[in-house]
Amino acid sequence: MRRPFIVFALLLACGVRAQPIPLIDTHSHLDHAGSLGNLEAALQAAVADMDRIGVRLSILLPPPQVMSLRAVYECDALQFAARRHPGRVALVGGGGTLNPMIQDTAPEAVDEDKRRRFRALAEQVLGCGAKGFGEITAHHISHGRMGAQHPYEWVPPDHPLLLLLADIAAEKGLPIDLHVDLVPADMPRPDRPGFNPSNPAVFKENLAGVERLLAHNRKANIVWAHAGTDPLLTRTPQRQRDLLGRHPNLHMSLRPGPGGPHPTFALDPQGTLKPEWLALLRDFPERFVLGSDQFHPPYPGARRTPAEGYDNLRRLIDQLPPEAGRAIAHGNAERLYGLDR
Ligand SMILES: [Zn+2]
Repeated sequence: MRRPFIVFALLLACGVRAQPIPLIDTHSHLDHAGSLGNLEAALQAAVADMDRIGVRLSILLPPPQVMSLRAVYECDALQFAARRHPGRVALVGGGGTLNPMIQDTAPEAVDEDKRRRFRALAEQVLGCGAKGFGEITAHHISHGRMGAQHPYEWVPPDHPLLLLLADIAAEKGLPIDLHVDLVPADMPRPDRPGFNPSNPAVFKENLAGVERLLAHNRKANIVWAHAGTDPLLTRTPQRQRDLLGRHPNLHMSLRPGPGGPHPTFALDPQGTLKPEWLALLRDFPERFVLGSDQFHPPYPGARRTPAEGYDNLRRLIDQLPPEAGRAIAHGNAERLYGLDR
């Protein structure tokens, strides 16, 4: 009587599938649409998004802001979210205080007084219960879809305050969530309609500085955000493989947004994980986490970032071998950010 056995096996298989691997999204934002009063509504939309694809926990972080923005905010403005949804929301901080100070301070102007002030800001961030420092940037391109005010930001990746942040992160055992649009050699600004005119005509080389930052303190875990969709098309699988091989404290968060044919996109236009990316994730399964970069909109339906990009977190994990899938979906994030299992 083989048939009952087959039915049982099928049921078992379905049962296993009914419990998908829980996801941790280490990098998402609440979109306040210009007014911090909208954060509440954005949180509701975030939780609905999380439930839809099985995100067990989201790390919310303030974007890498500059002081000239209208509504600059730090992790204390997000504490209500972690209190309301314990176990489902955690915080990373520094994008509203540490990052503006890094952007506003010329490297040669960093003296003992500034270092003391920077340390004090880092302590304030820890007062939010932050599980890491972010979103911090050394190079951030201004995108039209994020609005005209979306800042262009550039500092050398080995800016003395970034080196200091690496030392503080190492002392505290907390990771840094770092946004760096990578420029391996000086390049003219690509002619793309999505780039705001505030971007400079030439992007300056920053790869060597990124490597100096990584080498500065090996105890500082750096999570380089936005692998898998890259506006400059410079983060090829091979280049990332080389960097992961050379820098044991380098990690990356995957933003598997809408796919594309260029090698820097992890997914192809049909949503299939490309072989070179699968090989990279299989070879370094302990070095990747998920980081959607979703700006959860304050009002359901008012999406600025396509839902498809968010849903691709699940699509990507489902295409990995189970062990690597569990590590990248949640295990590595639990370890790096010190989250409860
Ligand atoms: Zn970013």
